[in-house]
Amino acid sequence: MFSILSKSLKTGIVTKKDPFSSRPPFGFPVIDFKACTGCDDCVTVCPTAALQTDRPAADRKTLSLSYALCIQCRECVEACPERAIHPGRELEVAAYSREQLTQRASFDVDGTGRASFRGMEALPGPSLEESAAKLKERIKGRLGRSLHVRQVDAGSCNGCELEIIATANPVFDLERFGIHFVASPRHADVLLVTGPVTRNMEIALRRTYEATPEPRVVVAVGACGCSGGIFGEGTYASLGGVDRIVPVDVYVPGCPPRPHAILNGLLVAMGIREAHSGPGGGETAPEPVSAGAPNLRRPLIPVLARGTPE
Ligand code: SF4
Ligand code: SF4
Repeated sequence: MFSILSKSLKTGIVTKKDPFSSRPPFGFPVIDFKACTGCDDCVTVCPTAALQTDRPAADRKTLSLSYALCIQCRECVEACPERAIHPGRELEVAAYSREQLTQRASFDVDGTGRASFRGMEALPGPSLEESAAKLKERIKGRLGRSLHVRQVDAGSCNGCELEIIATANPVFDLERFGIHFVASPRHADVLLVTGPVTRNMEIALRRTYEATPEPRVVVAVGACGCSGGIFGEGTYASLGGVDRIVPVDVYVPGCPPRPHAILNGLLVAMGIREAHSGPGGGETAPEPVSAGAPNLRRPLIPVLARGTPE
């Protein structure tokens, strides 16, 4: 007994007061679209088609980057001859739709095939603010100050599960935010779903969703949960992202997303934190590439609007 107490005193408190204060050495890629010359080397090496290019006219082209599909492999960073892509250090990336996790730039193409940045394109669908207001309205007064979460592994490789487990360790200690994992969907407010959804898990996921009482918020975790990730969509074994089967309220991309990102996604689902749909933060990040770039930066709001425990 004495030795346990002595060990605890020596270890001290390991729980991070602000779980979002640390930055990983690398995260999602950040593209300086102004420096891009449209060589498409990054598109060629991207294993998940997170980077895509299109040629709507002979003198125009577009380059889009989807964080929903990105597995943070950094192949594009290595491949870019112009050094226009660097790894961002942002942790708290989350959005309310796949479109909100996509950036698309358009370029003018000259006679030699070299592209020059023209501007950022707005993608269809509601803005982060509109989606946040809609979700808030749906859960208004129904979730209170605590959240019960049922985790569903709909076909993941277990990488995401390891990070989800880490959210409950003494360092992140998600229970201090009033978030608890429960064993049954009937006791849950939120389904935290990892994917891709395999054909074998389709019915189980549907039934779990139906068993969860309203307003049953769904958070898709990982590149696989957000988009099918490296496994793709509509293959012989995999149906793809969670939204192919049940409606998704919050998307937490990454392969796997770090515990901070998962915790952030749950707080976004509770309406406590703002969603931030792309990287661009961190000490080494460059200035936003364009005034028209959607959601590259947002002011970081205080960690919690409601009392952070000491
Ligand atoms: S880091 Fe993301 S965008 Fe870049 S090559 Fe890998 S999957 Fe594609
Ligand atoms: S996102 Fe990555 S870690 Fe998570 S299930 Fe898919 S492959 Fe595994």
